[in-house]
Amino acid sequence: GVLVVGSITADVTAFSRRLPQRGETVLGDDFTLVLGGKGANQAVAAARAGAPTWMVGCVGQDLFRDIALDGLRAHGVQTSEIRTVPGRTGVAHIRVDASGENDIVITPLANAALTTGMVDASIAEARDRTRVMLLQLEVPAEVTRHAARAGAEAGFTVVLDPAPAQPLPDGIWAHVDIVTPNESEASALTGIAVDGPEAAERAGRWFLDRGVSHALITLGAAGAVSVTAEAVRHVPAFRVAPVDTTAAGDAFTGALGAALAAGMDTDSALRTAMASGALATTRPGASPSIPDRAAVRALLAA
Ligand code: ADP
Repeated sequence: GVLVVGSITADVTAFSRRLPQRGETVLGDDFTLVLGGKGANQAVAAARAGAPTWMVGCVGQDLFRDIALDGLRAHGVQTSEIRTVPGRTGVAHIRVDASGENDIVITPLANAALTTGMVDASIAEARDRTRVMLLQLEVPAEVTRHAARAGAEAGFTVVLDPAPAQPLPDGIWAHVDIVTPNESEASALTGIAVDGPEAAERAGRWFLDRGVSHALITLGAAGAVSVTAEAVRHVPAFRVAPVDTTAAGDAFTGALGAALAAGMDTDSALRTAMASGALATTRPGASPSIPDRAAVRALLAA
């Protein structure tokens, strides 16, 4: 199975023709309240891809707790390793205009309460049924670093999606098997301007030099570049008609984790992940846009 250590939020989204200017009030056209957070989105993606999936994270004591837990369960994610802590559930406050431009304020709240001790307890609990651990950067950095080391020691395949990009201690990379940055994250972390496959290869080598076994740099509609010590491959994207690219990266990483947990080889797992990312762009929203196994299989077979 897959163990996801990361963020859980309620995504509060208002849709309006244009975004308000500072101090201004505008009328909205629509509003949604759904499960979000990179950790939770990747857990949903792994579960929808067919993997037994456990989420490790924190929610608060409020109405949004139920939105988060119900959302995870509805997609088949196990919630037994989620702690309820004093205070409020994390929130992403999102505004979207008619052209799809958005701005977002993420308030971590309960996500800031996740501790290394909680992660250790969940690893002890889930050890026997876990093959892959998925990490992102929306919980405290020292918790992510600790989880990578503890996951590696437990024998898991540790996958780090370094998003949102932020400076990381060099020591983390030795515990990471697979890193999955997009172009902007790869640029921010390596200092190499990643604007295409050649620069992505150089960025991939930057991660390998620091101890990562496999770098998968995702390039949106331009596909992905896979870099290991043995081989470099540029894999073109599946051709789809995108309507909203939100959560393509989360769909990619979650499906990758599920495929690896099922014992798939890395090339096949990469193709599955890319199909999931492509399909996520064909539906609006974040977690609601993540495809299930049947849809991914259909695209792979097409
Ligand atoms: P993020 O959402 O983190 O920025 P990307 O946009 O790079 O990540 O998307 C992750 C993966 O999803 C890509 O490697 C690609 O395989 C797939 N994908 C994303 N956007 C598209 C697109 N417009 N067309 C086809 N596939 C896409």
